[in-house]
Amino acid sequence: MENRLRIYNTLTRKVELFVPNEDGKVGMYTCGPTVYHFAHIGNLRSYLMEDILEKTLRYLGYDVKRVMNITDVGHLSSDADTGEDKMVKGAKREHKTVMEIAKFYTDAFFEDCRKLCIKRPDVVEPATNCIGEFIHMVETLLEKGYAYVSGENVYFDTSKLNEYYVLTNHSEEELLEGVRDDVEVDANKKNKNDFVLWFTKSKFEDQALKWDSPWGVGYPGWHIECSGISIKHLGERMDIHCGGVDNIFPHHTNEIAQSEAYLGHKWCNYWMHVHHLNDKSGKMSKSKGEFLTVSLLESKGYDPMVYRLFCLQSHYRKPLEFSYEVMDQAAAAYAKLKKRIAALSADGAVDREAFAEFRRRFEDALCSDLNTSSAITVLYDMLKAEIGDATKRALAESFDEVLSLRLLEAPAQETTAVDEELTAWIEERLAERKEAKKSKDFARADAIRAELLEKGVQIKDTREGTVWERI
Ligand code: AMP
Ligand code: ZN
Repeated sequence: MENRLRIYNTLTRKVELFVPNEDGKVGMYTCGPTVYHFAHIGNLRSYLMEDILEKTLRYLGYDVKRVMNITDVGHLSSDADTGEDKMVKGAKREHKTVMEIAKFYTDAFFEDCRKLCIKRPDVVEPATNCIGEFIHMVETLLEKGYAYVSGENVYFDTSKLNEYYVLTNHSEEELLEGVRDDVEVDANKKNKNDFVLWFTKSKFEDQALKWDSPWGVGYPGWHIECSGISIKHLGERMDIHCGGVDNIFPHHTNEIAQSEAYLGHKWCNYWMHVHHLNDKSGKMSKSKGEFLTVSLLESKGYDPMVYRLFCLQSHYRKPLEFSYEVMDQAAAAYAKLKKRIAALSADGAVDREAFAEFRRRFEDALCSDLNTSSAITVLYDMLKAEIGDATKRALAESFDEVLSLRLLEAPAQETTAVDEELTAWIEERLAERKEAKKSKDFARADAIRAELLEKGVQIKDTREGTVWERI
């Protein structure tokens, strides 16, 4: 099939034509959540834009297999392998077991995803399911001379690589500067950037989950999880790997180091990274300031779809600043958009030529490094265009396969302040319109629609029948 998607590849630092290993098939991997707490809406921005990537690929006709891990062990407080395990911290905070915490927050994560119309990946694999795979990788890395045992932990030896910093063009000093704050020097490491593949000795002896291994009872490092799980499900060559920008270093840099050392060849061709959502004070946090979750937005009256629209209005490679003012603007835009689409009549035939033209423009926007705001502009242009309602409806439905903004779902029926008399009158008009349509008196049917509209009642024909709402 024709490859048309152009996407920024962190590995080459260029926008490139996306060409998968196997024609028409894509193996895609997403770093999943660490399930020690609720996801904040910043985390969810990353998953939402990765969802756009997946759906764009499917829209273009690719057969996509997307895999996501669930980090339920091994992610320490600092990404550079120091501090307490985040899961243990979460369990202590809530006086529960690590597995209880993992189950609760995994479910909460997918519930947030459902609300935001983020598709569940084809494979979702908790790290604790794959301990055997991680041990096998660590054994192989030791055999090949890429790893060493020190202070009862197994480390990856970054000095064995020709090039370690493959994802960044920063200098080594700059990168170290970035992590220095929360890194305590680990005297067991031969080189500063060496990282733990398997822990048996941690300062925190109360690590809840431990497994037997050739190096003693312990647990895997965080980075090995993603290599192990992706290779298990996607094989030795992967097309595209995603995550937030904070994952570039050290997490993804370490994933590449250990995967390619283990496999002996190139592993993943494209790396897609989503920039951060920040709040006014800067980086979003689960512990400081307002903990912004989907539920919090809902409690303030925002439909999760408004947050989705807010994210889609800007490019995934730009930092995005959250504020309630911009959410309000997005809410107004969303309500208007839905109303406009709800007002489209389902009568008439679809103009195939116009449909193909607008679909092409929509695809072009997405193929241009996932330019979702341009894709939304195509949606607005289409709604303004001189084409029939049926074509517009069909196009909105089609675009929503990627945008997933529930564009064609009826707005919630208003139950308040509609008196019985008015309801009876509306029902009568609807019955009359149904008869008119049955006898092909479309002029009469349209007149009834207009009469209803004049009374502030919008109708919409759906597969289940005609529904109405007050506007
Ligand atoms: P974690 O659960 O901490 O492993 O993070 C889950 C995902 O959210 C990762 O892909 C991170 O890169 C991403 N992420 C973390 N903070 C933000 C943020 N403020 N904005 C966007 N993505 C983020
Ligand atoms: Zn990962």
